Amino acid sequence: MFKFLKDKVKGALDKINQKVEDEVPEEETEVIEEVIEDTPKLNKEEINEVAEAPKKGIVGKIKHSFSTKKINDSKFDELFFELEMALLENNVALEVIDKIKKDLKEDIVDKPIKRGEISKKILESLRSSIESLFDVGTIDILQEVKKKLDKPYVICFIGVNGAGKTTTIAKFANMLKNEKLNVLMVAGDTWRAASIQQLEEHGSKLKVKVIKHNYGSDPAAVAFDGIKSARANNIDVVLIDTAGRQHSNKDLMRELEKIIRIAKPDLNIFVGESTTGNDCVLQVQQFGDVVEVSGIILTKADVDEKGGAAVSMGYVTGKPILFLGKGQGYEDLEVFDKQSVMDSLGI
Ligand code: GDP
Repeated sequence: MFKFLKDKVKGALDKINQKVEDEVPEEETEVIEEVIEDTPKLNKEEINEVAEAPKKGIVGKIKHSFSTKKINDSKFDELFFELEMALLENNVALEVIDKIKKDLKEDIVDKPIKRGEISKKILESLRSSIESLFDVGTIDILQEVKKKLDKPYVICFIGVNGAGKTTTIAKFANMLKNEKLNVLMVAGDTWRAASIQQLEEHGSKLKVKVIKHNYGSDPAAVAFDGIKSARANNIDVVLIDTAGRQHSNKDLMRELEKIIRIAKPDLNIFVGESTTGNDCVLQVQQFGDVVEVSGIILTKADVDEKGGAAVSMGYVTGKPILFLGKGQGYEDLEVFDKQSVMDSLGI
């Protein structure tokens, strides 16, 4: 997962480091550090400047001098170009690249950095900048389901064709069943040939009831029936499949609005393909014009070598990535964990 991005970022950091070594002149920087009582650093011989009115605990000041390098603004732009290209090539959104650049600039430009510590400093800054991209909250779905008194909890899955909605719904049903919850699936994709059959096959493998109408029928009516049946049968969670659609397809978008109006889902989950990168980011924004997207599931992360969507989507859309789809099996649905993304990026 995300191997290209990892390799490219590493390559860029190595090049930046080399350029700093070769091209940025060294200088001596003096740092005056306060010496605090009982710190292991305390070394009386080294204290050459005693504070006139020492604060509590501070017994003196010590003057160090280091070999440092200072990167100015224009040098930074030149150096960052390497990293910018690595990020762009791997589908990281422009807004995200701008944010990373701004964060790195704040941490690095005109700051004396100890010789030999440039790459460590850049890496630390990059790590904290990328980590903060994921600060868009999350939704603990199991908790929410268990909290809802007026059952069922309704989740509607939306996205473009082939993104993996039906497969993801089956994985979701499996996950909820493992949590001892009663699940029902609604075959709301009455448009694509074979989609109802596909959901029924999953239903019979997972022993989960599927509510369906005929092909071409009104998906809002199927959703309505599904929720009615769930109420009658003490079902905890209803999962609604919907037809894949593009934002530009006005009829299908109106149909989606109707499903939402009738089903009043507790959650609308956008399912997108990780591999489509920036397109996926755009799709969430476009669906957001019609439906309140609550969160995102990125599928096919197992075959995504780039990872730009996983890095960018939360920040750009303001919606949390909730799960990653990592294969075609029922168990291949992983709760999104920023640390595991950071690990796959090697930072
Ligand atoms: P839908 O049109 O959005 O309902 O998409 P489907 O659920 O029919 O999935 C389209 C294809 O993507 C199928 O071949 C799935 O097996 C495959 N797929 C779905 N999720 C994943 C995933 O996480 N990893 C991989 N490798 N394939 C997936």
